[in-house]
Amino acid sequence: MSERTTRTGEAPHYDLAVVGAGAVGAIAAYYAVRRDPGRRVAVITHAGRGTGATRLSAGFDTPTGHNPAQRALAARSTALFDELAAGLGDAGRAPVDVRWLVTRENTAALDATMADGGRTRPVTGEQRALLDRTFPGLAHDDEQVLLATAPMTAGQPQWLTDRLLDEVLGRPDNTLLEGFRVTEVRRTGGRVELVAADGGRITASKAVLAPGPWVLDGPVAAAARERGARVKKVVAFHIMTPPPPGAPALVLEDADAFLLPHHPGGHWIFSITSPDWDRGPDEPLAIDARDRQLARALLARHVPGFLPHLLGGRVFSDCFTPGHLPVVDTVGGDDVVMAIGGSGSGYRLSPAMAEDALNLLDGRPRT
Ligand SMILES: Cc1cc2nc3c(=O)[nH]c(=O)nc-3n(C[C@H](O)[C@H](O)[C@H](O)COP(=O)(O)OP(=O)(O)OC[C@H]3O[C@@H](n4cnc5c(N)ncnc54)[C@H](O)[C@@H]3O)c2cc1C
Repeated sequence: MSERTTRTGEAPHYDLAVVGAGAVGAIAAYYAVRRDPGRRVAVITHAGRGTGATRLSAGFDTPTGHNPAQRALAARSTALFDELAAGLGDAGRAPVDVRWLVTRENTAALDATMADGGRTRPVTGEQRALLDRTFPGLAHDDEQVLLATAPMTAGQPQWLTDRLLDEVLGRPDNTLLEGFRVTEVRRTGGRVELVAADGGRITASKAVLAPGPWVLDGPVAAAARERGARVKKVVAFHIMTPPPPGAPALVLEDADAFLLPHHPGGHWIFSITSPDWDRGPDEPLAIDARDRQLARALLARHVPGFLPHLLGGRVFSDCFTPGHLPVVDTVGGDDVVMAIGGSGSGYRLSPAMAEDALNLLDGRPRT
């Protein structure tokens, strides 16, 4: 029996329990052991490793934000991703050129979203020629302009998550509990007790709860609802034609959509904004006719040459919070913290969310 179990019949005890093995949970667990390698950590997932929004994420990282707090999170996440890459040797991220299609009068508003204070500039003739070669039939309205920014990043969220979990679980005292659906978090004898749907339980000195889209059906449901959390379907189509080497991403800013070259898959990812609110991860989620109609309308208007290649894609649910600003806060005491609200951008904000969660638990000031 492991030394984590102090007496026969007692629940195993850990220094930290991390509920959630997605990007947010995995990074939090990694930071926890990096700060204190002696800390015994249990990472918990209600299903198997790799279940969740992170597995289906497009991994596009545009360090932008629609309010100062979001921009600060985005800028800090960029720095933290660089740190992760330095520590791991590779964080599964590659630069990608980004071009923006936006209504001319919205250009200043777009510039204001850039977390690094950078500005858009009109595409050069050479850049426009590459866009025309890459996006067949590229067209836009008279009042729209094509702009360029500094390169941004295409990541591999599940690859990074697995890599970080491997680091955490490579230490013998740390554990991954799969199929452990936490239904209740309570305090017992100065400890945090996490109780699973089947009655199984562990205790921990502290806990991070990063349930992603399962937020409204678990131990933080009430706290999350109070903070205005909702769930929504997130859809990204696949355009089944290989992106040429060096292909830029194209953000259709006015439509909150983007076309991202996905070189590992040999196709494009076409993310659209699905209007399906209140669709949780345990419901049957499918790309439906309404999503397809929306995607086809955008392609017909801007990249008609991609229409014949619009085939399938990826769909899941994510937790959305007001202002698309993640909520990282204590729940019922200083020893339990929730980190929720990816709002369709949870990969790119996950390092800062995880760092904030750990800082709260460790009594450090928020960064
Ligand atoms: C199709 C799609 C495309 C996307 N594209 C992008 C993109 O380009 N860029 C970007 O930044 N973001 C993108 N996102 C959003 C991003 O993927 C998510 O915001 C992010 O992955 C959320 O990570 P998470 O760790 O919070 O949740 P998840 O990855 O969903 O992980 C949640 C974890 O919590 C566990 N869990 C939940 N409840 C319980 C419980 N009660 N007991 C035990 N375990 C529990 C689950 O088992 C799982 O391990 C996309 C999302 C989707 C669906």
